[in-house]
Amino acid sequence: MTTMTLDPRGDARVAFDENGGSEAAKCNELDRAVSDPSFDRDLMERLATVRNLLRGRIVFTTSFGIEDQAIAHAIFEQALEIEVVTLDTGRLFPQTYELWAQTERRYGRRIPAFYPDRVSIESLVARQGIDGCYTSVSARHACCSIRKVEPLGRAIAGATAWIAGLRADQSDERAGISFAAIDPHHRLIKVNPLFDWTRERVLSFIREHRIPYNSLHDRDFASIGCAPCTRAIAFGEPERAGRWWWEQDEKKECGLHRPRHSPPSALG
Ligand code: SF4
Repeated sequence: MTTMTLDPRGDARVAFDENGGSEAAKCNELDRAVSDPSFDRDLMERLATVRNLLRGRIVFTTSFGIEDQAIAHAIFEQALEIEVVTLDTGRLFPQTYELWAQTERRYGRRIPAFYPDRVSIESLVARQGIDGCYTSVSARHACCSIRKVEPLGRAIAGATAWIAGLRADQSDERAGISFAAIDPHHRLIKVNPLFDWTRERVLSFIREHRIPYNSLHDRDFASIGCAPCTRAIAFGEPERAGRWWWEQDEKKECGLHRPRHSPPSALG
């Protein structure tokens, strides 16, 4: 049965636990834990709390950005029972693949990948060319949909919770995110352990724990995605200005992270 609940901030949340429990209640419990002044706001404790409070499979999808590297460190160092996987679009920077291998060596763990469906990607490239993403917004969304969104669906299918490295101050589109919320599209709990962290705080965590990071960050790449769609940013530019930089009025998202309650087609 599907029920609607209202959290203390007035956000409508959907409970859909087949066993009659309430994911919304779990979200509220997680949010309360984080907002409790006595709660240690350390990332390690946040992730341990998520694992302790939620039953079932939890999946963390990493794209090897600084936020994701911090989260992976907290998971691996505590040997938490959380799956760490990545989405290999086939268009990543060589430096990202190097970091992937370096991270596996550092923690002694494999990070499995989900790949685009072969038939779909062959059809896309035949239709719009290898760099067809530049030709129109809809072509770019089609590429993101096949290379990222569909593999993500397979990666988190059946999971209780999905952990992502979003921060609220990254962009206007992400400003409203919370620590934990129901993701009605994927029908699970989405957890953003770094929702209230600044970029500076993440960098400080990376330095403190000597966590490997993408060498492109040292060349003014702030947010790193696929090679054709990412450039370095100039001083003073917004953090995500280097993503899909040729698009002027579009939201700088690929469809992995939907605004709450948006229809599936909203971001391609
Ligand atoms: S970021 Fe660019 S290359 Fe990567 S999936 Fe999206 S459009 Fe395609």
